Amino acid sequence: MAWYKKLHWQIIIGLILGLIWGLISSQAGLNDFTSEFIRPAGTIFINALQLIAIPLVLASLVVGVTKLNDITKLSRMGGKTIGIYITTTILAITIGLIWVNLLQPGKALPEETRIELLQSYEENVEDRRQTAEEALDRGRLQPLVDIVPQNVIQSMSSNSNMLQVVFIAIVIGIGLIQIEKRKSQQLIDFFDAFNDLIIKIVDYIMLIAPYGVFALLASVIVDLAGDDLRRAFDLLMALGWYSVAVLLGLFTHMMLVYAVLFKIFSNMSLKNFFRGIRPAMLLGFSTSSSAATLPVTMERVEKNLGVEEEVASFVLPVGATINMDGTSLYQAVAAVFIAQAVGMDLSLAEQLTIVVTATLASIGTAGVPGAGIVMLVIVLNSVNVPVEGIALILGVDRILDMCRTAVNITGDAAVSVAVASSEGKLGTGRFDD
Ligand code: ASP
Repeated sequence: MAWYKKLHWQIIIGLILGLIWGLISSQAGLNDFTSEFIRPAGTIFINALQLIAIPLVLASLVVGVTKLNDITKLSRMGGKTIGIYITTTILAITIGLIWVNLLQPGKALPEETRIELLQSYEENVEDRRQTAEEALDRGRLQPLVDIVPQNVIQSMSSNSNMLQVVFIAIVIGIGLIQIEKRKSQQLIDFFDAFNDLIIKIVDYIMLIAPYGVFALLASVIVDLAGDDLRRAFDLLMALGWYSVAVLLGLFTHMMLVYAVLFKIFSNMSLKNFFRGIRPAMLLGFSTSSSAATLPVTMERVEKNLGVEEEVASFVLPVGATINMDGTSLYQAVAAVFIAQAVGMDLSLAEQLTIVVTATLASIGTAGVPGAGIVMLVIVLNSVNVPVEGIALILGVDRILDMCRTAVNITGDAAVSVAVASSEGKLGTGRFDD
């Protein structure tokens, strides 16, 4: 197949052209045109992905659980999944803390930039503080309570209820294993066919991926740069060391933690892993949403990485909701950066507090754009760093969100390979896209 016909190249070309168009658009005063006529293509693409997320999780997880045919296997897999997810998250935060302490980006921030940033983003900070406080006010165990829904239709009506859908699917799956085979088979066949149908629809959606990615990137650049490209560039430079600390952390985490995970659990090469998951990473990067990318992550993990459906359909939706290695790492770096910038030195005990709160905050972060910075408020509060400091990092947050989302997705995929391998459910992947 010619290289340019391969999906990941088409997505990369879409990304690059989107970036170029965004820059031209801000320079040539075409921002309104881009927002009105190009942005909708990106929105349609994200909507289409989100449209199939809940049906896909429901159908594939029901089929997955019935294939496991045994409840003890399910609870063993659940325990392993959560255990590995939490371990990788703690490692991610530790790596982030090491980089931010080594590079000390907050101390390099010029005084006048600090004052300017604090003033210009003052209002945006208030929104985020309120959202985070509302989440906290609902009680510490509320996320656990939220897993059990009151109403099936209501749970299925919003993608933010993914854990509820996982819960419903598991209950249905377990029930199907235990009722009379003659009756359960009809429903299992239904969910199986429905699952195949959704996977076919994912293929259709991927046909428009390069255009969707083009539109998304162009809109991100237009939003960032506005009409003043120079100012956006200056901001990027001023926050350069902070961004470098986050990016180095993300890179180290991918190359170190996922490599070790692979060595322990599977004999797949890291190169093949990245090759298989590449389209999902690129989509995570362009959409900044692990939830929207979930259908593609599931498809790639099963097809290219050889993870069997019963594992992928459980590990990935749970991961897209609670496992955010990239986000937790970023929250740790951001908290210490802000502390450094306002002249606070965080002690070792305070940094250990960050490990705990960033783990919890990342579990509570939704897989949608910009959710990580809202939950950052909780991390900052835990170590008494002023929340207003968020204003310092808002300007570059979207770009870092794109990178951390790609890592979040990669983490979910890596853990699914590890769990599958330890359960003897890892086949060989195929690379035919
Ligand atoms: N956008 C991230 C995700 O969807 C969450 C965040 O860090 O804002 O995974």
